Amino acid sequence: MPPATVKTIRDLVYWEYAKLASEIGVGDRKNFRYAMATYQRYRRTSAHPLTILRENGLESKAIGECAYCGSHQNLQTDYIVAMSAGGPDRPDNLISICNACQQSRGTKELFHWYGKERRYEIPRLILGKYLKLVFEAHEANGTLDSTDVNDDGKLDIFDLGAAFPRRSKRRPNGAV
Ligand SMILES: [Zn+2]
Repeated sequence: MPPATVKTIRDLVYWEYAKLASEIGVGDRKNFRYAMATYQRYRRTSAHPLTILRENGLESKAIGECAYCGSHQNLQTDYIVAMSAGGPDRPDNLISICNACQQSRGTKELFHWYGKERRYEIPRLILGKYLKLVFEAHEANGTLDSTDVNDDGKLDIFDLGAAFPRRSKRRPNGAV
């Protein structure tokens, strides 16, 4: 569970970014003291994910290895958030993935694929990009200030991915 001060989706995105910043700053994603100071700064300044990404230096890696496991074999391009789940068709949603990782992931949402136990193993490039997509999706859905998007009684990483529908919801133009 995130710290008590993390109450909304917006807070949680900041908190996850702050742990990435901790990894970049002091080499440890779990340096919670560093992460908390960074988190408070993001909140104070209402930081935008684009600014955070620039500051964290999460630039794209060269193509040629799987963004998840580093393999050089059987690579293809894949969406971090599938288009069927509402992921955008843009370079910042694309990464290289090997066939083994693709088979393992299938259509699972990123946090569900890694699970709570392995979530600290999500490569920082992927997590940084994913948090930006998550922030945008919650912003579009109007749920950045929600405290429990998936209605399971608590706020955790699975509420972040809840911004993306499991199935594509196609509605006729103009319908609500
Ligand atoms: Zn791989």
